Formats: sequence, C-alpha cells, structure tokens
Amino acid sequence: MSPAPHQPRLTVLSGPSGVGKGTLVGLLRQRHPELWLSVSATTRAPRPGEENGIHYFFHSQDSFQQLVDQNGLLEWASFAGNCYGTPRQPVEERLAAGVPVLLEIELEGARQVRQSSPDAFQIFLRPPSFEELERRIRGRGTDSDDAIGRRLERARLELQAESEFDAVVENGELEVALQELERLMGLA
Ligand code: ADP
Ligand code: 5GP
Repeated sequence: MSPAPHQPRLTVLSGPSGVGKGTLVGLLRQRHPELWLSVSATTRAPRPGEENGIHYFFHSQDSFQQLVDQNGLLEWASFAGNCYGTPRQPVEERLAAGVPVLLEIELEGARQVRQSSPDAFQIFLRPPSFEELERRIRGRGTDSDDAIGRRLERARLELQAESEFDAVVENGELEVALQELERLMGLA
C-alpha cells in the first residue's frame, strides 16, 4: 500500500511580545526552507531594517481598513495601538498547493484562526518568567518606553491563555526551544 498523502498543515505560533517568536521563526526558516511564513499586514511603522513585503506589508489605517472591508484578511487584531492581520489569499494558495504554512500572530488572531481553521496546530511560546520577558523586550531596544509598557500589559493577559493552545513551549535555552518546535511541527 502506498503511504498516506502528506497533509498540508497550518501552524500558528503565538506568545507575548519579546518572548522570542521572531528569533525562533528565523532559525526555523533557515533550517527548513520548505516552510512558508505568512507576511502580515500592519499599520505599525517599520523598525530600522524592516522592509515592506519582507517583514510586513506596511499600511496606513485607511488601506488596512480596506483589506478588512474586502474580507482580505484571514484574521486581524489590534495590538499595542496598531492593527495586524494575515492576508488570506497567499495562505490559502500555499495550503492548497500542499506547502506547510506558519503564522506568527498574537492571541486574538490565534483565537480567530481556531474558529475558522480548527485543524490548525496552535503552539504557545512562553518565557521562563515575566522578569525575563521584560529583560528581552527592553534588551531588544526596538520599542519606546510607552510601547514597552503596552506590550508588557498585554503580555500579562496573553500569558493566562496558554491552556487554549495545543502545545506550550518554553523559550529558555534557545536551541532546546527550537528542537521542541521542530518536533511538534514534524520537521525534526
Ligand atoms: P518576539 O518576536 O516574540 O517579539 P524576538 O524574537 O524579537 O521576540 O526576541 C526578543 C529579544 O529576546 C531579542 O533581543 C532576542 O534576541 C532575545 N531572545 C530570543 N530568544 C531568546 C532566548 N532563548 N534567550 C535569550 N534571549 C532571547
Ligand atoms: P511586532 O510589532 O513586535 O512586530 O508584533 C507585535 C505582535 O503582533 C506580535 O505578538 C506578533 O506576533 C503579532 N502579529 C504579527 N503579525 C500579526 C498578524 O498578522 N495578525 C495578528 N493577529 N498578530 C500579528
């Protein structure tokens, strides 16, 4: 008998800002180029070095609203004063073509995807402690004090939601967390 066909899989990675999602996703993509990472739309201003179409699609409030009105987003949420959303069409095309897709999104978006795509595998990344999370956000040096305050406030809420997820990975030692993600995603 031939083996079962590969099931295209949608994976959602969520967790508080500063926990290390971007760092781990970068490493996953280096090691597994077959994995496709969705590029989100946002109204946030680009950070130094961020490029339109690569890190995000940067939008004005009006053009983001147009995407929402056209049903162009698979999910979207407001986070720390800006809007973020996943463009629908590229994700649907990749999944239809059998390409494994990864979404790196915050909690409200993850909840929407749980409703619309119940088969998606949802992973929550948590920090070793709240103090370490704060050290990482501050150490990253990309956000104003005001933005850091909003992100930490939101993190307290997000950290209470880990039981909603299919799996929880602690990002203490980077390599350990990476290997655990690979195992959960069937990439190891
Ligand atoms: P997120 O994408 O979740 O907001 P980042 O990937 O930008 O988080 O990581 C936030 C900061 O924490 C960065 O400076 C990154 O280098 C650092 N970091 C990520 N993972 C670890 C880890 N396992 N141990 C120590 N520092 C880490
Ligand atoms: P940042 O401003 O640090 O790049 O992202 C802030 C938060 O928005 C992070 O938790 C990130 O995972 C989340 N995010 C990025 N893109 C999306 C998206 O398309 N949808 C949702 N809901 N959250 C997103």
